[in-house]
Amino acid sequence: MDFQPSGLEIAIALIVTTIAFAVGYYISRRRAIPVEIKNHDLENEVNNLKTAVQNSESRFHQVASSISDAIYVARISKKGELKFVYLSPNIEPITGYNPDFFMQSPDFGRVYVHPEDRHIIQSLVHHLGEGKDDEVDYRWVHGRKGVIWLRNSGRVVQDDHSSNITIYGLISDVTERKRIEEDLNSQKRLFENLLVVAQATTGHSTMKDTLRSILDIIMMLIDVPASSRSSLFVFDDKGVMASTLLSQGEHVYQRKRQFIAEVIDKGLVGWVVKNRQKALLFDTSADDRWLPLPEDSNSAQSALSVPIMSGASLLAVLTMTHPDVGYFTMDHAYMLESASNQIALSVRNAQMHNIETQQADRQQTLYDTLRAISSHHDPKEVAKIAANIVSERTHWPAVEILLPDDSRERFIVAAATGIGATNKGFAITLDKGIVGRALRLDETQYVPDVKQDPDYVMADTNIITELVVPLVRSERMLGALNLLSDEWNAFDQDDILLAESLAEAMALALDNAGLHKDLLSAKEAAESANMAKSEFISVVSHELKNPMTSIRGYADLLSSGVVGEMSPQQENFIQTIGTNVGRMQTLVSDLTDVSRIESGHVHMDFDAVPLVDVVGDVVRTMRAQMESKNQDLVITTDDNLPLVWGDRNRLIQIMTNLLSNAYKYTPENGRVEICLRNQLHANNGANESVVLVSVIDDGIGISEEDQKKMFEKFYRAPDREARSSPGTGLGLNITKNLVELQNGRIWFESEFRKGTTFHFTIPIAEDE
Ligand code: ADP
Repeated sequence: MDFQPSGLEIAIALIVTTIAFAVGYYISRRRAIPVEIKNHDLENEVNNLKTAVQNSESRFHQVASSISDAIYVARISKKGELKFVYLSPNIEPITGYNPDFFMQSPDFGRVYVHPEDRHIIQSLVHHLGEGKDDEVDYRWVHGRKGVIWLRNSGRVVQDDHSSNITIYGLISDVTERKRIEEDLNSQKRLFENLLVVAQATTGHSTMKDTLRSILDIIMMLIDVPASSRSSLFVFDDKGVMASTLLSQGEHVYQRKRQFIAEVIDKGLVGWVVKNRQKALLFDTSADDRWLPLPEDSNSAQSALSVPIMSGASLLAVLTMTHPDVGYFTMDHAYMLESASNQIALSVRNAQMHNIETQQADRQQTLYDTLRAISSHHDPKEVAKIAANIVSERTHWPAVEILLPDDSRERFIVAAATGIGATNKGFAITLDKGIVGRALRLDETQYVPDVKQDPDYVMADTNIITELVVPLVRSERMLGALNLLSDEWNAFDQDDILLAESLAEAMALALDNAGLHKDLLSAKEAAESANMAKSEFISVVSHELKNPMTSIRGYADLLSSGVVGEMSPQQENFIQTIGTNVGRMQTLVSDLTDVSRIESGHVHMDFDAVPLVDVVGDVVRTMRAQMESKNQDLVITTDDNLPLVWGDRNRLIQIMTNLLSNAYKYTPENGRVEICLRNQLHANNGANESVVLVSVIDDGIGISEEDQKKMFEKFYRAPDREARSSPGTGLGLNITKNLVELQNGRIWFESEFRKGTTFHFTIPIAEDE
């Protein structure tokens, strides 16, 4: 730091220089006077001059004793010897010795210069001897005050012809100034150190890096050996220790956590935590606060520990040790205390960063795992992918996933990574091991030291920590997530939380995989049963057709009277046979249709068909029946109805089914209307030209409950009125399928006991 000379200094320098020349003049004049006196006039002048000189001499003494600094005049001989010729009286308050002492002492009191600074005085004398002005500071041992600082500045005046050199000098006590200077310097050093701490500790992304840089930089600034036991313990908001860093790599990891626990509980750190103030241990062996540990070498003879506060709460404790007794000073303590704000800031930053990145990391791991496993339906595949991704995304040294075998009594390691990879295929039963206990209790099991756990089944001697989370869904045990480590107490609360979230994701994926498998096999079973049924129906109906045709043929033959007259009763019987065979034929043909539809073997013969003709054909076959029930049949149709694109015979089948239902489920004297319209129907956002056929009756209607099941196979409304007409419950199902096979739609509206309307559409045939 630069010091500008103060006003006082400038004044002193001026005075010294002025005095120096005044004294020089006086001395030279004194020597010249005897030579110059020649006559009486001169005598007067000489007397005048003498008086003037005396006056100026006394003025000089006055000035010399009035300033606080001591003034001296000295001569250096040719041989380089120094001799004081004048010392102002105030040399005594400054140095503790009077002018005579300096004048008479052969070494001019140089023995009182601090031994380490004697070379400075030597170099001053040397410089002056060479005719160079010089100014030096040195320590002086004052009789009463002890060590003080003196400043000695000397100016050289050379004689005209003699080789003697005269020195005019000033000795001042600069102890106070030195102290201020030293303070300023140490402030400056402190400031610089803090700057170094700030630079070194900010900008680290992880807590570990931040703590490491804090500890490293403080150890360097305080100058403690790298091997010393120094530490930084960080506490969370609840005062629970959250992170630690020990400078020494010597502690065996397994003992580390235990060691930390002990130090915090009973040791020096514990004392600082409790008292919230710094502790300076001059000699650790004589201080109760120091907790000697078995593996400690004697490297920590003195220690310094300071609390790092963040507001009113304790954030961390920083501890330094040194192999020498009494190494640490109040300066060190002051330095640590001054740096503590910066340390607190850096730790807080790292904590925030830690929380943010940890949460983001955890979410990312969870998300990645879920995404990777959710599309797989094989439990083993799910386990393998999950284990790999989890061990990639975390620091966990071994990830195992166990799945139940077919008996569900044993769980097998289906996937394993890291140091547990060799365990793959290993089987456990529920009554054994920590995994068995987790599955039995349906609870996470965290065991920081497996050797202390009576349930532990030794599989690998390297394993020390085990964390098991059962994979459960709706009370079903789907497996277990098992994390292992070869370090003691390797997992913390965050690890357990993440493991539990991951276990939930895995259980979900495994459950889905299981459901998918069940669904798949159920679907396969249903499909093959359906195929078998369709095949059976088609074989049986085929086999029934021929005998029924022949029964009908013979019945017709008998009723025609060709083979002889029949009594009215016989004729009645034959008619019953005929009706029943007819019903059986309908049933057989319906069943054949259903099985064909289901097996996808319906043959369609598409053509442009005039629906009016189809309706006409059907009405012709039905009219007699309807008239016998005295039902009115009305047909309304748009003019110029376009042709539809369909299978004529299937369209006849559709119309027949709907008209015969209208006939069956409408009482005598009822009314049935068939309505054909040309319409535009929305289909997948586009308008499509269709012919809409509606069959409207005022019959028994369908209850709301029954309406829902109308198109199901074999469904007949339980309504007694409906059941009084014969039927199979297949007609509407076949009809719906046939409409849809011709790209149409079918629906109905009905009101119980009021009537029913069935609508269906068939797309029109495009113009060629
Ligand atoms: P089926 O007529 O052989 O019983 P369908 O599949 O043709 O079989 O009809 C299923 C059921 O729908 C019938 O049993 C009847 O209860 C009801 N149903 C069908 N059409 C009508 C209608 N027009 N009016 C009242 N109920 C009807």
